[in-house]
Amino acid sequence: MIITMKTNASEHDINNVVDKINTLGLKAHISAGTQRTIIGVIGEGNHDHQHTLRSMASVENVIPIAKPYKIVARTSHPQTTIIDIKGIPLGGEQIQVISGPCSVETPEQMTASADAVKEAGCRLMRGGAYKPRTSPYSFQGHGVDGLKMFRDAANQYGLPIVTELMDVRELDNFMKHNVDVIQIGTRNMQNFDLLKEVGKTKVPVILKRGIAATVKEWILAAEYIAASGNHNIIFCERGVRSFETAYRNMLDITAIPYLKQETHLPVIVDPSHAGGYAWMVPALSRAAIAAGADGLLVESHPIPNEAWSDAEQALSPAELSQLMQELSAVAQAMGRTI
Ligand code: PEP
Ligand code: MN
Repeated sequence: MIITMKTNASEHDINNVVDKINTLGLKAHISAGTQRTIIGVIGEGNHDHQHTLRSMASVENVIPIAKPYKIVARTSHPQTTIIDIKGIPLGGEQIQVISGPCSVETPEQMTASADAVKEAGCRLMRGGAYKPRTSPYSFQGHGVDGLKMFRDAANQYGLPIVTELMDVRELDNFMKHNVDVIQIGTRNMQNFDLLKEVGKTKVPVILKRGIAATVKEWILAAEYIAASGNHNIIFCERGVRSFETAYRNMLDITAIPYLKQETHLPVIVDPSHAGGYAWMVPALSRAAIAAGADGLLVESHPIPNEAWSDAEQALSPAELSQLMQELSAVAQAMGRTI
């Protein structure tokens, strides 16, 4: 980091700052200019060090140079990471569309859903057994019974499963039911204890963007998982809250190239929770793939208007098949397959 001193800082002030830098275990390099002194700080300074130094009266500004994230940064790992999900690559040339219902409802619904997902050509299935609902009176998910229902239906079609973990106390159940990808939802992006625990497993994690999280906060959330040992992380852009009320969220397409440059991890997009309407899903999906997304997370339901949650954004089996066909041309234009 670089410290700029106030123009009226005395030699005594400068020495105080240098002493502070030394007590933090760092080294100082002083450049005295005609107007002001600049101090370069050498060493692994952290966020707290910056605040400590900025709090000194003679300091005008502290400018961080190093990035606050390390393991997930592309600078520390230039090759693009491809995550292996039961033999299915995510992050490589092949785009993965993960589809299934918002909620696990019944064994019949899950079997019909798995059938439609497989038939459309998707290789992975989603479904929520634990649901983070805005209202406590809405369907909260079947919990562990839902995990079992999901596992049974997906097994019949050989589909790996993606499902949301909301509470660290359920992690054992996730391991017991061999959940193939743990989804950390929007509302838990900064649940640091949860991130640390999934970081202790080797199970791939889809980390959704917080409802109003900056990209930096999101990358740091991924760093939490990585710092605990699990590097199998997939970012999922699902729209952020904005001033706009015409649709559910505002899809931040800009985040895709940014994350792909800044980190080495795969990036997928959830067009369903972004737009909030089934009719918007094809357009947002095309945009996501054109912008470089490695996959999509798309809600679908055997009978959308009977869905227990997020009915208006669910694609029917026919719409899902149609989407997969349309996206193949976009993927091809991008030099990829689907
Ligand atoms: C979901 O995928 O069903 C979900 C609840 O998503 P989000 O966390 O993005 O709201
Ligand atoms: Mn949903």
